[in-house]
Amino acid sequence: MASETGIRYETATDADNASSTNDTSTRIVGYAARHAISALRPIAIERRAPGAHDVAIEILYCGVCHSDVHQVRNEWHNTVYPCMPGHEIVGRVTAVGDRVRRHAVGDLVGVGCMVDSCQHCESCADGEEQYCEHGFTATYNGNSQNPTAANNTFGGYSESIVVREDFVLRIPSNLDPAAAAPILCAGVTTFSPLRHWKVGKGTRVGVVGLGGLGQMAVKLATAMGATVSLITRSPDKADDARRIGATDVIVSTDKADMEAHAGAFDFILSTIPQPHDPNPYMALLARDGIYTVVGCIAPLTTPLDLSRILMQRKSLGTSLIGSIAETQAVLDFCSLHDIVSDFRLIAIDDVNDAFDRVDKGEVDYRFVIDMASLRGQTPDESLAAKVGL
Ligand SMILES: [Zn+2]
Ligand SMILES: [Zn+2]
Repeated sequence: MASETGIRYETATDADNASSTNDTSTRIVGYAARHAISALRPIAIERRAPGAHDVAIEILYCGVCHSDVHQVRNEWHNTVYPCMPGHEIVGRVTAVGDRVRRHAVGDLVGVGCMVDSCQHCESCADGEEQYCEHGFTATYNGNSQNPTAANNTFGGYSESIVVREDFVLRIPSNLDPAAAAPILCAGVTTFSPLRHWKVGKGTRVGVVGLGGLGQMAVKLATAMGATVSLITRSPDKADDARRIGATDVIVSTDKADMEAHAGAFDFILSTIPQPHDPNPYMALLARDGIYTVVGCIAPLTTPLDLSRILMQRKSLGTSLIGSIAETQAVLDFCSLHDIVSDFRLIAIDDVNDAFDRVDKGEVDYRFVIDMASLRGQTPDESLAAKVGL
């Protein structure tokens, strides 16, 4: 049901949640794109009233992830418009449903890439909601099973959000809340494969790319005890990489440099966000080494040359974000090791420029939106009207 001016947000409603603490949805403002080539503009949406198991959160900060750019520009060909991105959300709890036990009003909490999943398939039962066999509900552009404007989810480029408590994370008190926001996607996306493939003391790790994901990967793998090298096209990122823990920097466009490091790594984490040729990176792996792709959801440009990788039992791995348990684990790991993301705080009005810079790969830190800059903004009512909602 659409209100006169806002768009009804409806997801994660289940039988339990039917007993709402109140029935009144809240009209709020957020930044959304109307189509693949439009800028993000303020629009009005409605958040559902918190149900019995829901947590209502006032959003303080939201990271700008490369996925936000891909999704808003329909590069994955599944975007439902209007598209309001944002899945690195840190905020303050303002209300809880009467059956919520883990979170209380006033708590500092986070929401990452998922806001729900089926909860009964084998993956969900194993605590791997990101691989839910029915498709998890993404924090924005969500509800993959029935993607229509009526049940689309809207993300964190907004004043507030209502999320089922199982998908709400605790933000440790010693972390700067703005700098912790990127942990909710960039952090867990790199932490999950590092943990899955048991990276630890003595593992020789290569991280490809030093964007939002890459800098978290360098910091996390270093804290796990690995010896970490950055593999990059940009020699000017060497100082930054060494500052955050890398002991070596390999320039991927320098053939001699790549050849000199043949067989040097046990594990390479690739954060390259575009289709690419994996073979030059496979050559850097030692016997039993794994090249794991986390940044690219598209066919690779060049087939794997199996004649070269099977001679040393090398593998190509993939990994998708991380589970809710892993998201809490990476937050707690970061708290213990004093790790946060390098970031630049921006006002929401600057988000369209930020998208262009992220798309060009110009930044070696995360943009984080200070959501205080959204307060008092007037929604573009004509935009909501134009999309027919
Ligand atoms: Zn992300
Ligand atoms: Zn499931």
